Amino acid sequence: MNKLSIKLGTVFFLIIFGLETFMFFFLHSALVDSRVEEELTSLQARGNSHSSILEKQFNEDTISHVTLMESEANTDVVITNIAGPILDSSVPSKDIIEYLEKSVSDIPREGQIVEDNWKEESFISTVSPIEINGQTMGFVYMFQNTESIHSLIERLNDHFLLTGFIAISLTFIIIIILSKALVNPLIKMKEATFKISKGDFSVSLPKTGKDELGDLAESIQLLADDLNYLKQERNDFLASISHELRTPLTYIKGYTDIVHRRNLSIEDRDKYLTIILEETHRLSDLIKDLFDLAKIDKNSFVIQKKLIDLTDFVFKIEQKFTPAFLEKNMSLVVECPNNLYLTADPSRLEQIIFNLLDNAIKYSAPGDKTTLTVSSKKHDVHIRIADNGKGIPAEDIPYIFNRFYRVEKSRSRALGGTGMGLAIVRELVLAHGGTITVHSEEKKGTEFEIIFKGAEKR
Ligand code: ADP
Repeated sequence: MNKLSIKLGTVFFLIIFGLETFMFFFLHSALVDSRVEEELTSLQARGNSHSSILEKQFNEDTISHVTLMESEANTDVVITNIAGPILDSSVPSKDIIEYLEKSVSDIPREGQIVEDNWKEESFISTVSPIEINGQTMGFVYMFQNTESIHSLIERLNDHFLLTGFIAISLTFIIIIILSKALVNPLIKMKEATFKISKGDFSVSLPKTGKDELGDLAESIQLLADDLNYLKQERNDFLASISHELRTPLTYIKGYTDIVHRRNLSIEDRDKYLTIILEETHRLSDLIKDLFDLAKIDKNSFVIQKKLIDLTDFVFKIEQKFTPAFLEKNMSLVVECPNNLYLTADPSRLEQIIFNLLDNAIKYSAPGDKTTLTVSSKKHDVHIRIADNGKGIPAEDIPYIFNRFYRVEKSRSRALGGTGMGLAIVRELVLAHGGTITVHSEEKKGTEFEIIFKGAEKR
């Protein structure tokens, strides 16, 4: 047996054993006391009834009649006159003489207990006065042999011993079962955490119920599942990174080989060098995006929040982006109420809007329109970026925020996409405590809505 169950079992056992012993002792002495009390009361009552008979006829006949009655019972009677001499007795006087010598002064009408020490004495005894016309004529002593009480108590002790033994054995068994039931899940959890620490996340803990142990098992299971998921994700991520890095490198290597050939015209050489340059830019963009994500993942990047005047902020964005839209024959419309403020990191907020507007340009056609609308509802700021470009197929929408996810890989690559833009946007929005949602319909357009808490109007 393991250590914790021994400790728990011993503590439980000692507590329950102590409680049971106390209860048994208490019950035993209460039972014995009440039994002796009962015996004394009935003895007293019997003595009183004899004395009332004798009060009616205090003569030899009645006295011997009373003594005769008692000699048939398991109690004894001694009748004395006021001065002390025994008038009649159902028991040899040598056995009881010492009790008669005990003080019997001022005996009340209802009688008195002469001896109640059943443990040491051979008899318990009571006395009742015989009063005729207000004058005490004698006494009726009643005796009961304490042997019957002793044998009763011996029987009681036997019962108590047997019951005690059964109770202790049952307690012992129950404690062993309970402590095992308590400790077994703990052992399983210990094994599971050991497995997790060795990098094996395939643990499966049984559900033990809705108590603290069940909660702990559930947390460990959740931890193992999360770690498993992270491990899987990390592997996928590494596979994606190596693939993404390999593609531009293959281009660069291929075109560099071609450029090395001597018989190339100057135009061809320039064309291939431009491709090499483009691929190098793509590679550095990819590495920058990866670096950004890694920083967000490590939580080492700091969000430096400031109170931003959104009107001014949006106006600057419009100024920066309009040329890029015009260049592609597209339009950008910006709407923002005056005097609306938000506490956020301005450079991160710019990065969020930059990535979304960049996508709007990438995935729209000449003549399309993009709107950037800022509004406030209660204490929230809503930033909406909507375009009427090509839209996203419904089946791709759940994945667009995943790293490296691109709806059309080749088209996105051709447009300079790394598949990381929306992943970065989502991380940055979450880091601000905000939410981002997307609505898109193929050939109709796409709308991203970001909600930040903490709008201020001044
Ligand atoms: P990429 O670098 O490929 O643009 P993103 O993470 O920014 O990567 O976007 C993921 C994918 O979501 C894109 O490949 C594109 O297919 C789709 N997407 C994002 N924004 C839009 C948009 N405004 N309109 C249509 N498709 C979009």
